Amino acid sequence: MSKKKLLLIHTGGTISMSEDESGAVKPEGANPLMRHTHNLNDYAEFIVEAPFTLPSPHITPNHMLELKKIIEKYYLEDGIHGAVITHGTDTLEETAYFLDLTLRLSIPIVVTGAMRSSNEIGSDGLYNLISAVRVATSDEAFGKGVLVVLNDEIHTAVNVTKTHASNVSTFQSPQYGPIGIVTKGAVLFHHTPKLDVKYSISELSKNVSIIKAYAGMDSRLFEALASLDFDGVVIEALGQGNLPPGTVDGLAHLIEKNIPVVLVSRCFNGIAQDVYGYEGGGRQLKKMGVIFSNGLNGQKARLKLMIGLSQSDDLDYIAAMFQ
Ligand code: ASP
Repeated sequence: MSKKKLLLIHTGGTISMSEDESGAVKPEGANPLMRHTHNLNDYAEFIVEAPFTLPSPHITPNHMLELKKIIEKYYLEDGIHGAVITHGTDTLEETAYFLDLTLRLSIPIVVTGAMRSSNEIGSDGLYNLISAVRVATSDEAFGKGVLVVLNDEIHTAVNVTKTHASNVSTFQSPQYGPIGIVTKGAVLFHHTPKLDVKYSISELSKNVSIIKAYAGMDSRLFEALASLDFDGVVIEALGQGNLPPGTVDGLAHLIEKNIPVVLVSRCFNGIAQDVYGYEGGGRQLKKMGVIFSNGLNGQKARLKLMIGLSQSDDLDYIAAMFQ
């Protein structure tokens, strides 16, 4: 059987960095992953692209849009059977989710990274890259949305999050778990994900910020947002979806100005809902027009809101996206 054709896109991150004598991890000369392409040739035929080489805190939604366009181009012009993206782990889940929301392709798209750079003991870069390639060439990965593969686990873009600052098992899907595993001999899926709606997007120009709620919070940050150039806000609210009472006036001000306010829980398990009936409780917030997200974390809700706002500023349309 002939080999599948994969697009391999390197974007930077620890997976493409090395550690110097002082212990600082940084990009140095040529991407070390380029030296390892021969290790991959047993698995597939590759087209390699490196549109930018950035630590992932430097990645913006416009870089994510660029990746979407590159994947679409190679799909249309070269008939690729899948794509693997190497990426810094800090914002990896955001790029994966952005692609999941915006790519209308059924071919496997797999994002991977590393927690240890190329010359550190126990470096996980090449290992994770080979695992990602194996998943991307698996027939079973077809039609499962954008996947994140690290540390022998296969996660969905929508559920996965970085849970540990340094551990190699950092990527977890709280509440749901991985949908498959990678073993020495096989790529095994044990769950089939429910796919999200896809959104068409060709440019991104909206500003959305995330604000985390805390005990004793007042309205000042919300008042400030209303006077700055923000088009939307995501609030990481308390518990099941509540805020301190001092925030209510500031939220009302944002909603009056037609600025959508999306609420997620700052707990990393569970879904924010309109359960509590006190001042600042979910019932009051929902009645005011605050949009309750469907279990996304703050950084993913922000991307979804940015994508929604690039299509419409109608609050009902935006609210429907989060149902
Ligand atoms: N700070 C690095 C980055 O996200 C971390 C990593 O890649 O693991 O680029």
